[in-house]
Amino acid sequence: MAETRRLHNLIGGKFVPSTTGRTFERRNPADQRDLVGIFAESGADDVNAAVAAAKAAYPAWRKLPAPRRGEILLRAAELLQARKERYSHDLTREMGKPLFEAGGDIVEAIGMAQYAGSEGRRMHGVTTPSELPNKFQMSMRQPIGVVGMITPWNFPMAIASWKMLPALVCGNTVVIKPGEDASVSTYNLVECLVEAGLPPGVVNIVTGYGPTAGQPLVEHPDVPVLSFTGSTEVGRLVYELGARQIKRVSLELGGKNPLIVMDDADLDLVEQGVVWAAFGTTGQRCTATSRLIVQRRVAGPLIERLVARARALRVGNGLHPATEMGPLVNGDQLRRVLEYIEVGRSEGAILRSGGAQLKGGDYEHGFFVQPTIFTGVRPEMRIAREEIFGPVLSIIEVESLDEAIAIANDVAYGLSAALYTRDINAAYRAMHELEAGIVYINAPTIGAEIHLPFGGVKATGNGHREAGPTMLDLFSEWKSVYVDYSGSLQRAQIDNID
Ligand code: NDP
Repeated sequence: MAETRRLHNLIGGKFVPSTTGRTFERRNPADQRDLVGIFAESGADDVNAAVAAAKAAYPAWRKLPAPRRGEILLRAAELLQARKERYSHDLTREMGKPLFEAGGDIVEAIGMAQYAGSEGRRMHGVTTPSELPNKFQMSMRQPIGVVGMITPWNFPMAIASWKMLPALVCGNTVVIKPGEDASVSTYNLVECLVEAGLPPGVVNIVTGYGPTAGQPLVEHPDVPVLSFTGSTEVGRLVYELGARQIKRVSLELGGKNPLIVMDDADLDLVEQGVVWAAFGTTGQRCTATSRLIVQRRVAGPLIERLVARARALRVGNGLHPATEMGPLVNGDQLRRVLEYIEVGRSEGAILRSGGAQLKGGDYEHGFFVQPTIFTGVRPEMRIAREEIFGPVLSIIEVESLDEAIAIANDVAYGLSAALYTRDINAAYRAMHELEAGIVYINAPTIGAEIHLPFGGVKATGNGHREAGPTMLDLFSEWKSVYVDYSGSLQRAQIDNID
């Protein structure tokens, strides 16, 4: 068995045990005998100490010129690159995804460190001419203070980097509460930042459970900005609690992402895309394809192909190089997925593939489920409307593009959507009419790159976008500055109007 990490909270540059005196364990979801880590089970006092450290570090960090802050991020990118293999291994052990996918998590953090690091030399403001003579005016971005971050377990390094690195380059300091099922990767990211020169207290890590370690961070009066990724249920609570103190809150929540297939689509391409997007990360991606909406004429042959591919997928421990699909993250998630499979059966959907837990042999000590496909799904069924967060694909047959778009849009969520077609008119209609923050044409619903805005509409989010040029917006405040060098009082909107 590999090493067990024993990690205290990181507060003010020091590793300190939790004031509760308690710890919690994380075990490998592919093999529960493998103890991955023991972490501080934090409470409100630990959060208070972390916020105080972040507040104390803020004035100096804010004053450091943005290009210098960016240089630290750029150096961290190099360290992440050098440690990619080790960090991928840690990530697979803690949350289960296969090694090649874990590598993608680290690469996202490297890309974000480069992108946010170089932003230190841009961070563009706006200058405009004045309507009055001898007057200059500009707008610039300013940091806000201590940012509270709460992250899930499914992309433990990528999501932490999307939040932390833009916040840092803007000049904020950070307290982060990672998902309890995947805290090691956050430490790995911060380890690189610290070695790259990040001063003590600029990033603080508090581990523990959502209600006892996350909520005090949400409610802390010295944390004016909250960045949350997780379920819609918890996101709503974070939003409500934040609103009471008029905090800035960014929410990245659930999805029920549709992939539409028109009858002129390249079915080879569709087959590859659907298998990757429905079963990759064991379906535990906010952008996973969970609804396949297919034109009736090609449904039969496509279903045959997908069933064959799903049955052939190599499910197993993500640390084995041949594994294509790993376990679910924990026992609760396994029970939830199996319950949804029962819901699908009882609603009258046809179980075409999978549907059962994998037990015995190499599966005995983990949380494995078969890749599952339901056909005959109707749009009103729960398996077509609710986020399952597992490898369960619901296939809905339609007659036309109009019907497909209407069904695609008729759910609470709106994160990502895809259309496969060779018809350029259909493609442009889909780009405009699909209610989603991200649309793919002839590519599946997963695969966002860090230099375009990321986020969703409707119950998926509250209008913010991570990554891309929009990534600075949550973490900076616009300040407009007017300089009048005329030596006289000039009244805007009055003295320049005849
Ligand atoms: P949860 O909402 O259960 O947890 C997210 C984070 O919130 C965790 O750190 C959790 O702690 C914490 N938390 C739980 N309760 C509270 C509380 N009362 N106050 C403050 N924090 C709390 O989501 P999961 O971790 O299970 O992640 C899966 C969900 O995340 C899915 O719905 C998925 O769609 C969504 N997601 C969205 C993405 C997007 O960009 N739109 C990307 C990735 C995932 P703890 O770990 O202890 O439970």
